[in-house]
Amino acid sequence: MGKVLVLSPHPDDDVIGCGGTIRQHIVLGDTVEVIYLTSGEAGGHGTDQEETIRIREKEAVLAAEILQISRVDFWHEPDGKLKASKKNIQRLHQKITSFEPDIIYVTHDREDHQDHRAAALLVSKTLRLPATAVKPTVWMYEVWTPIQKIKHIVDITPYIELKLQAIRAHQSQCKVLRFDDAISGLNRYRGEMHSWPGGPFAEIFTTFRI
Ligand SMILES: [Zn+2]
Repeated sequence: MGKVLVLSPHPDDDVIGCGGTIRQHIVLGDTVEVIYLTSGEAGGHGTDQEETIRIREKEAVLAAEILQISRVDFWHEPDGKLKASKKNIQRLHQKITSFEPDIIYVTHDREDHQDHRAAALLVSKTLRLPATAVKPTVWMYEVWTPIQKIKHIVDITPYIELKLQAIRAHQSQCKVLRFDDAISGLNRYRGEMHSWPGGPFAEIFTTFRI
């Protein structure tokens, strides 16, 4: 049984970027844990920050229950100002050392959103620490900016409906942007264009530039 750690800059990035792959890991018997680095308080769309955090964390827990994720943690870093700071590197180092994941999933390092790039940087900096003896495989996923250099493809066709259900658990976000439709389209495109002879739905991943 493998161990999988997912870093999600905001409460919905994990299900959007790799919800199907997460579900596949769980079906195969792997343990999946997710860290929500921020609680997405900038995405309140008119709701105040405290209430937004409460709503979005509840939605993340609901989505995690749908996929049957083992454990979720909220780090409460500031939304829009996530940093690969010493404090966060230390915290991630401790998590990796204690949990010993085989694979880490994180948003890719060319994403438009600064928090998404910061999350990727946080992982690369932590794994470069000499003290981090555990060296998991890192796959970076796409949310706002499609990946160009595809290094890994996962056929998520058996899991697409559950993935969309998990995305729709993020009601506060889906009522503003139809992430379910958008990501269904993206995964369909990936399945058709990149997953042959698999598909029709796929998630794709890349590796660090360096
Ligand atoms: Zn995000």
